[in-house]
Amino acid sequence: MRLIILEDASVVADWAAQFVLQRITQFAPGPGRHFVLGLPTGGTPLGMYRKLVQFHKEGRLSFKYVTTFNMDEYVGLPREHPESYHYYMWNEFFKHVDIDPNNAHVLDGNAPDLAAECRRFEDLIQQAGGVHLFIGGIGPDGHIAFNEPGSSLVSRTRVKTLAYDTLDANKRFFGNDMSKVPRQALTVGVGTVMDAKEVMILITGVHKALALAKAVEEGVNHMWTVSAFQQHPQALFICDEDATLELRVKTVKYFKSLMVEHNKLLEITR
Ligand code: PGA
Repeated sequence: MRLIILEDASVVADWAAQFVLQRITQFAPGPGRHFVLGLPTGGTPLGMYRKLVQFHKEGRLSFKYVTTFNMDEYVGLPREHPESYHYYMWNEFFKHVDIDPNNAHVLDGNAPDLAAECRRFEDLIQQAGGVHLFIGGIGPDGHIAFNEPGSSLVSRTRVKTLAYDTLDANKRFFGNDMSKVPRQALTVGVGTVMDAKEVMILITGVHKALALAKAVEEGVNHMWTVSAFQQHPQALFICDEDATLELRVKTVKYFKSLMVEHNKLLEITR
């Protein structure tokens, strides 16, 4: 695992977007050769999406031959609800770039058979040849996608009941009224994300510091599901200084000493 420590959330957003630009450009997608991207929602990736839109408008990046799979969606929230992840993805990203909407997959939290919808999503990922780069965020309780504490670390896409901490963290999007936050979501499993060739997890803010410390310095533990990525061969954790506050000084020092190496990951596009 590589831990990349950057100054603040805006530098994290820029770094992540540059990395996506580089990976897609290197892959050189074309007809019958799609780059497959896993995508998160939430506050953390917004800056990255804005930067990717900018790259697109500057003519540096096309999504014409990119297929995307989103991590999760609330159950029972209408698609056009401003807090649905369909709405978020369309407004923050898809409508600003040249992606074919048929290739932008978001779980349907209103499907009549939710289990069948989850199987369909896993099948689509398989048919696409797997995910090249899965991007994720984490919750303050260390969840990745909606894989709440206690989730199986080999889980696949399924219905999940949200934990109290998640309802509390997300109530800000629902007029600070926890009773309005949907209780369930469809989410890719930890195993689904683990199958991606490469994983990039964005972690910003002091409220994520404990989760980052658990994920980096302690063992793999289903109570902090993001810790599973210690066992992924190509996992990048991109964080800001605030998120490092619970890490040991020597951990921070070690990963900072590798920054020259980490920045080489971006050299092609600079
Ligand atoms: P956030 O959410 O980016 O809005 O903090 C992340 C998450 O809960 O997974």
